[in-house]
Amino acid sequence: MTSIHSDALAWQPPAGHGHTLLHLPHHSVLTAPADLSLAELTGSGPRAALAPHVHVPRTGIRYWLVPWTWYVTQGCLAPRITLRHRPTLLIPHADQLTGPAPSWTHFDTCTDLWVTPLAPLLHQLGRATGNAIPLPRPACVLCAQDTDPSRCVRLSTGKPAHPDCARARGYQPAPSGVWSSPEPGPGARPLRSPRR
Ligand SMILES: [Zn+2]
Repeated sequence: MTSIHSDALAWQPPAGHGHTLLHLPHHSVLTAPADLSLAELTGSGPRAALAPHVHVPRTGIRYWLVPWTWYVTQGCLAPRITLRHRPTLLIPHADQLTGPAPSWTHFDTCTDLWVTPLAPLLHQLGRATGNAIPLPRPACVLCAQDTDPSRCVRLSTGKPAHPDCARARGYQPAPSGVWSSPEPGPGARPLRSPRR
């Protein structure tokens, strides 16, 4: 079974050399401060969990793609890390590893991922910038239990839910990533106002 989240993690750039301007509706991009070196950014942290990132030589910035993370806002992040949801970006192709234009930087670890899971990346960026970044833990609005933030979905009401809870109530994921109910349930019926 796939989900928008697992599909987003499995994303790959176009093959070969070159660049393509791409809209990534199921991703967010986290950009590290330009004045942090690669050594400072990666340090001795859990590099194995980090996918390759894009380096932009002209500006010095480095950014990582993560699955769209609606529950993380700019306000959650250390001030020097920037977040963009559903970006349109000039994406280097898979073999674009050097040159003056944006290129991929791989670590000395083997990973099939081009998209980084959010939690290890926030840990790493938080440590590099000297700010611990707590990962929000939203509760499922349908069962009130904790969710794994990387696995919960957003309902059309804006609230988070477990995918299984949402599916059981008849919610369906839209291409936007938001889950909506096909028909209003009994609880959604407007209350009749008492006659005067
Ligand atoms: Zn639930």
